[in-house]
Amino acid sequence: MRFDLTEEQQMIVDTARNFTEREMMPYEEQVERDREVSPDLVQQIKQRSIDAGIYACNMPSDLGGGGLDSFDTTLVDREFGATSYALHYIVARPSNILRACRDQQIAEYLIPTITGARVECLAMSEPDAGSDVRGMKCTATRDGDDWIINGTKHFISHADMADYVILFAASGEEQTSKGVKKKITGFLVDFNSKGCERVKGYNCVSNNGYQNMIINFDNCRVPNQNVLGEEHKGFDAANEWLGATRLQVAAVCVGRARRALKLSVEWAATREQFGQQIGKFQGVSFKLADMQIQLDAAELLTLRAAYNDAQGRFSDTEVAMAKVFSSEMCQFVTDEAIQIFGGMGLMDELPLERMWRDTRVDRIWDGTSEIQRHIISRALLRPYGG
Ligand SMILES: Cc1cc2nc3c(=O)[nH]c(=O)nc-3n(C[C@H](O)[C@H](O)[C@H](O)COP(=O)(O)OP(=O)(O)OC[C@H]3O[C@@H](n4cnc5c(N)ncnc54)[C@H](O)[C@@H]3O)c2cc1C
Repeated sequence: MRFDLTEEQQMIVDTARNFTEREMMPYEEQVERDREVSPDLVQQIKQRSIDAGIYACNMPSDLGGGGLDSFDTTLVDREFGATSYALHYIVARPSNILRACRDQQIAEYLIPTITGARVECLAMSEPDAGSDVRGMKCTATRDGDDWIINGTKHFISHADMADYVILFAASGEEQTSKGVKKKITGFLVDFNSKGCERVKGYNCVSNNGYQNMIINFDNCRVPNQNVLGEEHKGFDAANEWLGATRLQVAAVCVGRARRALKLSVEWAATREQFGQQIGKFQGVSFKLADMQIQLDAAELLTLRAAYNDAQGRFSDTEVAMAKVFSSEMCQFVTDEAIQIFGGMGLMDELPLERMWRDTRVDRIWDGTSEIQRHIISRALLRPYGG
């Protein structure tokens, strides 16, 4: 396994870093203050990222995307992690699930999403079905050439910006050795469909300006041609998405922690108390050492998972390790950074309190830390019948 970058990969990193520093970081304070990204700013970031060639970088180049593999996309996400999520999600990384588009779905959904003409969101979670997604109550019932959708999804990220949703609904039941299980099907549903309604979601402590919404389906009719992937095989498509988004969370956490550590080192080297740099006190310098150790370990786990994925050796265990370790590392590093800054660390003059808040959700969304540990331990025990 080699992580030294080719010239081309270094160029990708430099482009993503420059874009982050020039086009997104200057707006962080504004977004925190307004708790939203203005439509003009959304348009500006979107257009400039299209011009810079980094919009939809994870999508196939023959369809207009950047054509980056999982490793290179992770390098981009690591740079984006330095700034606020509300800003860098605009530089879309369309859901990998959309690769399952076929026939007219390619022209109607996939390509416009890659070019930026359309924006998608993804709805799996429900008020009574979070970690246990198979427990979902939202149903899809076949009616001639259509499906009728009923139910509620919540916590749906940036549904306010999207014009269609990749929806997962229970489309039937099957008898398995572990009892009756729901069959799940994926659908592409336009928000202007009759019976599909978006409602303001909750205020979240993490990622100001990045909204979540509730989506209600009341006898919403969706044509069969909008089934994404195979009928009743929604989880096959969903797993692909989950792997990519968990890797994204890990890479973003690494990027965020890098910035927090850099600020901490600079502060420890310049702030003086008791007549000397605070970095000369072991109580501070050992914190810096531990932050660096944790950061490097998280980065290595993340790059390993991404590298193997790019080589066609995707491992949900490796991705789970990267996600759980990086998100917990970032919580540790941003917390220690605040400690090193003392009182100023908690003030919104600095980006640290934002990073500390922002990273809290990373241990919850896209599968909680407990679910990641479940994935890892299940793989360990499986050969023993566990
Ligand atoms: C800001 C935000 C944005 C989100 N965006 C989206 C989105 O765009 N689309 C989408 O579909 N979802 C989204 N989610 C949902 C997210 O994926 C869920 O919150 C997450 O999967 C956990 O589900 P839950 O919140 O219902 O918690 P629960 O599943 O109720 O879990 C509660 C607690 O029980 C623990 N627990 C549950 N089961 C087990 C188990 N088997 N073993 C051990 N512990 C367990 C959990 O780890 C957790 O600590 C978003 C969530 C947030 C907060």
